[in-house]
Amino acid sequence: MLAVRLAQDLTALGFVALGAATAWEWYRFRGKAQGRLAVSLVSLAVVAAVVRVQDLISLSGAAAAVVGIVAIVGFEASGYYVLMFRDAFLPLSPRARQVAFIFFGVTLVVGLADITLLSRAGRVVTTAAGFELIAAWVVFTGEPIVRFWVASRNVPSVQRARMRALSFGFAGLIAILVFDVFGGSAVQSPAAIIATQLIALAMVPVIYVSFAPPGILRAVWRMGEAAELRAAIQDLLIFSPTRQDLAEKATGWAKRLLGAQGAFIVDPEGTIVASTGVDDAEVLEIVGARKGASDGGIQALRPGRAAAIVTPLQLTDGTGFLGVTAGPFTPLFGSDEVNQLQGYASSVTAGLERVQVTERLAAIEKNKTQFLNLASHELRGPLTVVRGYVSMLEGGLLGDLNERGRKAAPVISAKVLEMNALIEQMIEAARLEDGALLLRPEANDLRDIVNAAVESERPALDGQHDIRVKCPDRPVHVRVDGERVKTIVSNLVSNAIKYSPKGGPVDVDLVSRGGIARVSVKDQGVGIAKGDLPILFTRFGRVSTPETDHLPGTGLGLYLGRQLARLQGGEITVDSDPGRGSTFTLHLPVAPPPDTRSAQGRRQSAGNRSN
Ligand code: ADP
Repeated sequence: MLAVRLAQDLTALGFVALGAATAWEWYRFRGKAQGRLAVSLVSLAVVAAVVRVQDLISLSGAAAAVVGIVAIVGFEASGYYVLMFRDAFLPLSPRARQVAFIFFGVTLVVGLADITLLSRAGRVVTTAAGFELIAAWVVFTGEPIVRFWVASRNVPSVQRARMRALSFGFAGLIAILVFDVFGGSAVQSPAAIIATQLIALAMVPVIYVSFAPPGILRAVWRMGEAAELRAAIQDLLIFSPTRQDLAEKATGWAKRLLGAQGAFIVDPEGTIVASTGVDDAEVLEIVGARKGASDGGIQALRPGRAAAIVTPLQLTDGTGFLGVTAGPFTPLFGSDEVNQLQGYASSVTAGLERVQVTERLAAIEKNKTQFLNLASHELRGPLTVVRGYVSMLEGGLLGDLNERGRKAAPVISAKVLEMNALIEQMIEAARLEDGALLLRPEANDLRDIVNAAVESERPALDGQHDIRVKCPDRPVHVRVDGERVKTIVSNLVSNAIKYSPKGGPVDVDLVSRGGIARVSVKDQGVGIAKGDLPILFTRFGRVSTPETDHLPGTGLGLYLGRQLARLQGGEITVDSDPGRGSTFTLHLPVAPPPDTRSAQGRRQSAGNRSN
C-alpha cells in the first residue's frame, strides 16, 4: 500500500512541477502559445494536486463537491487548452473553434451536473456522464497529437523532436486514461495502480522537454544538422558579395535554423534589408515593439499574434535587428530558440561588417575608375594640341629656334610622347574596367609582334643595355589582337630596361611548345622581393624600394598586360631573384596556321570569342 501511495504522491508532485515549469516559461516569454500550454499544464497540476489531497484527507460533503468541481473543470480545461495551444500554431477554422468551444461548455455543464445532481440519478446516467467527460478530453488532446505529429515531418530536427515529445507525452496520458476506464477490475490491483502512476510520471519529463528541452538534448537532436549549419555560416561569412545578398542568405538560414515561418533583418536606420515569409508591416510592428522595450535582450511575443523572437545586431553604425516569426508549422519557440538566434546573430553581425568593408572598398575602386576615365579623356585633348605645336616647333614651321630652343624641342617632344603613352594606358585601363574594351583577334605570327615590340623600345636604349632576341625559325601562329600583344611585350621590355638601372643584357626569348607560345623577357636588374610579387599585377601597383622610387611609372602596365593576356586565353607570370634580375613571361595559346584551319578550328575560335 505504501508503494501505491508513494507512486501516487510522486506522480502528483511531478505534474505540479510540470505546471510550475510551464508557468515560469510563460512568465519569461509571454507568448500566446506558451500561455495556453501553461494553462493546460497548470490545470493538470491542479487536478493532480486536489485529487491527491482528497485521497489523503478523505473529504466529504460540500468540501468534497468543491474538490470534485475543481478537479473536473481543471481536467477538461487541461484538454481544451491543448487544443487551443495547437490553435496558436496551426490555427483551427473559425467553425472548428466554435464547435470546440461549445463542446467545452457542454462538457463543463455535464461535469458540474455529474458532481452535484447526478449523484442522485441512476448508475447508467453517471457512467454516461463520466464517458462524456473522458471522451471530450481525449478529443481535445487527441486531435492536436495527430496534427503535431503530422506537421513535425517537415520541420528542423529540434522542432520535430519537440513536437513529437509533446504528442507522445499526451498520447501516454490518453493511454492511461483509457486503460483506467476500460481496464475493469484489473485496474484496481496495486501493481496496476503503481504501473499506471509510473507511466504517467514518465510522461512528465517527456512533456517538459517539448517546451524547455535542456541544451544537451537539443545538441543531440541537432547533431545531424550541425555540419550543414557550419557550412551555412561559413558561406555567409565568406561568400556573400553584397550586404543585400548576405542579408537574404542570412534570413533564409535563420528561418531554416529555427524552423520559423518568417525571418527578417532590419538595419540601424530601420530599413528592412531582407525579409522572407513575413510582410513588411508586420516586421515594422515587431521591431517597433522591440525598440520600446527597455531590456537589452530578447523581444518577447505579441499578444494575439504568432510568436516572434528578435535579437539585436550590434553593427558599427548602430543597432540593427534579426528576427524570426512563428507560423502554422513552427510551434514551440522557447528559450533555446532565443539562445540559438542570439548565437547566430553574432555570425550575421560579423558577416554584415565584413561586407560593409568590402562594399566601401568597391566604392573607392569605382571612384578610381571614374577618375581614371575622366582625367585621361580630359588630358587627351589638350595634349594632342601640345603635340601638334611641338612637332611644328621641331620642324621649324613656327620660325627659327635659337640654339637653346633647338636643344629643348626634342626633350619636350620626348616628354610629350611619354605623357601620351601614359594617357593611352589610363584610357585602356578605364575601358577595361567599364567592359568597353574591344579586342580585334586576328591570325598573327608572334615572331613579328615580338620583333616589332622590341624595335619600338630600341630608341629608349641608353647604351648600357643590350637586347638579345631569340625566335624559332618557323612561324608561331596565334590568334590575338596584334596591337595589344605588342603593347604587352614592349611594356615588359621597357620594364626590363627601366628596372635594371646598372645596365646589362635583356633577353627576349620566344618558344612554342605543347600548344602554348611563351615570350620571356629576362633582365639582370633589381629583381623583386617575394613579398612584393602579389602587388605587381594590381591596378596602380608599384613596388617601392630606394633603388626604383625615382623611376617614372604608373603601375598600370603589368595590370593591363595581364588582363589583356587573360582576355585572349593567356597569362603573364613572373620569376624573380631579388638583386639579380627578373623574368616575366607572356603565355598565349597557339592557333592552327591560318590557311589550314579546319572548319572545327573555326567553330572553336568562334566559341572562344563568344565566351
Ligand atoms: P610601372 O612600371 O609603370 O610602375 P608596371 O605595372 O609595368 O608599372 O610595373 C609595376 C611594378 O612592378 C613596377 O613599379 C616595379 O616595381 C615592378 N616591376 C615591373 N617590372 C619589373 C622588372 N623587370 N624588374 C623589377 N621590378 C619590376
